[in-house]
Amino acid sequence: MGDGQVLDIEEIFPTLQGEGPYVGWPAVFVRLGGCNLTCEFCDTEFENFKPLSLDAVLERVNQFASVQGKRISELVVITGGEPLRQPIAPLCEALLEQDYLVQIETNGTLYRPLPYGVDIICSPKSTKGHYHPIREDLLERVSAFKFIISAQQPDYAIVQEVGQSLLDIPVYVQPMDEGDAVLNAANLSRCLQLSMEEGYRLSLQTHKMLGIP
Ligand code: SF4
Repeated sequence: MGDGQVLDIEEIFPTLQGEGPYVGWPAVFVRLGGCNLTCEFCDTEFENFKPLSLDAVLERVNQFASVQGKRISELVVITGGEPLRQPIAPLCEALLEQDYLVQIETNGTLYRPLPYGVDIICSPKSTKGHYHPIREDLLERVSAFKFIISAQQPDYAIVQEVGQSLLDIPVYVQPMDEGDAVLNAANLSRCLQLSMEEGYRLSLQTHKMLGIP
């Protein structure tokens, strides 16, 4: 699928990273179009994408990362949909060359070689009670797992073993946003329990609390 000189882009925007290891960092998000999974709880828009040249993507990232010529965002988050559907290695290389810290958010079911230095966060997903296996070649590159936890859905109520203990990869647990205050409170409570009993790190969607994208 292409050489990465044109990518299907859903949106590019500046914000703070709201969740996971870089929470609170000013960041530019590059959201790629399309996903290979169809998770029931998905709340991400990824089907209104348009093709954009790599140069245009970089130009927009640089615009959003700077204020009056001063770079204020060191972090670029490449997300989706599923970003590994597309040939993003040239984008990653160009961003690393410009001294950005590059974070990828993936569901772990796809792989493509990426330059070293890219930080890969994997959020495993489940369909009909079974977690999709994490690609072994990707697993070696994952720097953290982020499990989305629901107290109501049995497959999301616990943290599955998807290879993280093998490589001692840190695990974050994040309450699923089910659009219902009572369910969400139960999900948060379940995450607190998992953190305190199992030693997982708690991740909250702080961007939703702050009302930012
Ligand atoms: S993997 Fe992520 S983006 Fe894709 S459908 Fe599932 S929740 Fe949505």
